[in-house]
Amino acid sequence: MDVSNYTIATLGSHSALQILKGAKDEGFKTLCIAKKGSEKVYKSFGVADEIISVNQFSELFSLQDELVKRNTILIPHGSFIAYMKIDDFKDMKVMYFGNKDVLEWESARDLERQWLTEANIKIPRIFETPEEIDRPVIVKFYGAKGGMGYFLAKDTKDFYEKMTHHTNEKYVIQEYIIGVPAYFHYFYSLLTNELEIMSFDKRYESNVDSIGRISARDQFALKKIDPSYVVVGNIPITVRESLLPEIFDMGERVVEKSKELISKRGLFGPFCLEGVITPEADIYIFEISARIVAGTNLFAPYSPYTYIKYGEPMSTGRRIALEIKNAIKENMLSEIVC
Ligand code: AMP
Ligand code: AMP
Repeated sequence: MDVSNYTIATLGSHSALQILKGAKDEGFKTLCIAKKGSEKVYKSFGVADEIISVNQFSELFSLQDELVKRNTILIPHGSFIAYMKIDDFKDMKVMYFGNKDVLEWESARDLERQWLTEANIKIPRIFETPEEIDRPVIVKFYGAKGGMGYFLAKDTKDFYEKMTHHTNEKYVIQEYIIGVPAYFHYFYSLLTNELEIMSFDKRYESNVDSIGRISARDQFALKKIDPSYVVVGNIPITVRESLLPEIFDMGERVVEKSKELISKRGLFGPFCLEGVITPEADIYIFEISARIVAGTNLFAPYSPYTYIKYGEPMSTGRRIALEIKNAIKENMLSEIVC
């Protein structure tokens, strides 16, 4: 089966290098839609057969005829959601890998909460009003780009003091879980009905990951250092092997529940559960991403786990391309694109 009649395309950012490399390794043509000024990176790495320059990522929509002509399958990643509106995707003519109906469920915090709770996943408590705060909380703004502006509050008074810097922004107040953060990367195949553990990472966030370099004495002396959670990179982790059964089950429960709740066969392809593991080994999940996450960039050519399963290079980007290739072979492409 010749897949070189198909082009795999994505926006030049986030995990594009990994996605395009994986697609090339599986024999696809590749196309990168890059913002002016960043083309040279994609050119330099040699992962894109073709690069289209744009001023804004949203120009993607006016390129549709060009993309359809090339028999293009678009692979979504974090920049799609960060820089464009979900509604704009709905009527897109270009083939899109994944289930668009899932986007609404992961991006509306109340739907996300319903999905995780019904899947029997522990989530941090949500406080509906600031007056209810009775323990340390983290306040998160909607649509925050990579943790920007989040803050911690110890009680209601502290909340209102810190809120004075924010006006008219929607937010959620979450119990702050003390433990280590961990991001669990999965891939669920609709073709084989199998769930795979791909890899794990933690984020490298500024400035929370650097506050520990300043002594408590100096922190007081410098007075106002509020923690911030702006992601700048990722750090690989493996977890205690005895945690794997629970992590695997959690992934399965989330997939199973999605089949009930979300139309068109629910969640499939790469996804990520993002949480904190406590000293009691309880795993709390505060977020689900229903697509490739940038933490998987650490694992080209492979993670310790995908090496054990495949015995050859298998990144999440390549796994996506392999799934598309298998679907084309089995005449099932229309099942995994919309
Ligand atoms: P960017 O195109 O770099 O602005 O990223 C788009 C979205 O993906 C933003 O919401 C980022 O916070 C998120 N993101 C980008 N890179 C990473 C990363 N290495 N780890 C976690 N999240 C990321
Ligand atoms: P998010 O943008 O929701 O992925 O969160 C950004 C960062 O905030 C995470 O990497 C965690 O370090 C931290 N975080 C988010 N929610 C919680 C929570 N409920 N408890 C503890 N830490 C959290």
